Amino acid sequence: MPPNRRRRTRRRRFPTTAILVTLVAAAALAWLLAAACGPKSSKNGSRSSATTATKTSATPATAISSATAPSPRPPATPESAGAFAPAPPTPEPTCAPEDMLRLVTKEIALPAEYMPADLVTVQPLDASPSAAIPLKLRREADESLHRMLEQARTGGLSIIVQSAFRGYQDQQQVYQEEVKTFGQAQADRESARAGHSEHQLGVAVDFSSKRLNYDLNDSFAATAEGKWLAQNAAQYGFVLSNPDGKEAITGYMYEPWHYRYIGSGPAQAVKESGITLNEWLLPRQVGCRPT
Ligand SMILES: [Zn+2]
Repeated sequence: MPPNRRRRTRRRRFPTTAILVTLVAAAALAWLLAAACGPKSSKNGSRSSATTATKTSATPATAISSATAPSPRPPATPESAGAFAPAPPTPEPTCAPEDMLRLVTKEIALPAEYMPADLVTVQPLDASPSAAIPLKLRREADESLHRMLEQARTGGLSIIVQSAFRGYQDQQQVYQEEVKTFGQAQADRESARAGHSEHQLGVAVDFSSKRLNYDLNDSFAATAEGKWLAQNAAQYGFVLSNPDGKEAITGYMYEPWHYRYIGSGPAQAVKESGITLNEWLLPRQVGCRPT
């Protein structure tokens, strides 16, 4: 056999042997690894996520995690459910009726028994002398309202509050009167059903003026008072709830006299957004369900 052929054979045999040794070593290592963490690999590889979630929820680590940091989603693995995976921060809920950003619409109601705990009597200078019942607002809304109307008065305007907080029963009465007078279809365009009124929140205000004889009607928009409010109310935290031409969105006719307080920052953001208050509030509702 020629030397070159033997060398070639040896050269061929040596790599084959090396590969075999390497493969055997790798296989042994793989076997050892598989043996060391076999149950976990098998579980992750062969079971459905539901089965895995059921299985992992029974482990002590997950049970502690569930007890101390509830999460809307089941953990994917035992590791992600342990103490090393901090729970995401819980968003501030806006479902509570007293939240300043709580949305109330024809679809989203307030609890019938809800009445704000911090109602105060609207200051006499700001209240209409013809108001049927004592006018009340939540304290924060009233304080900002007073600053706003004082500022308006320095400009020679006389904006007054014609109606403010209305409880569930009062709203029921107002709505039924509207139905009697105008029929249900028209009443639903201009009056909220009980439990669906922003007035029940204690932060909604109907404005008028002496020159309108304290009436609430569309002509308020054309008065100096109506124009001043449209321009300046947002910096005091008040937003026009039912703007002109938005009935398809709000469900209510144009109400140039009806404003809702939500705070200065949010009110200016709503004004700049160009969308209605309802549209702006809707994605900011946390934990609320339509009722
Ligand atoms: Zn109103």
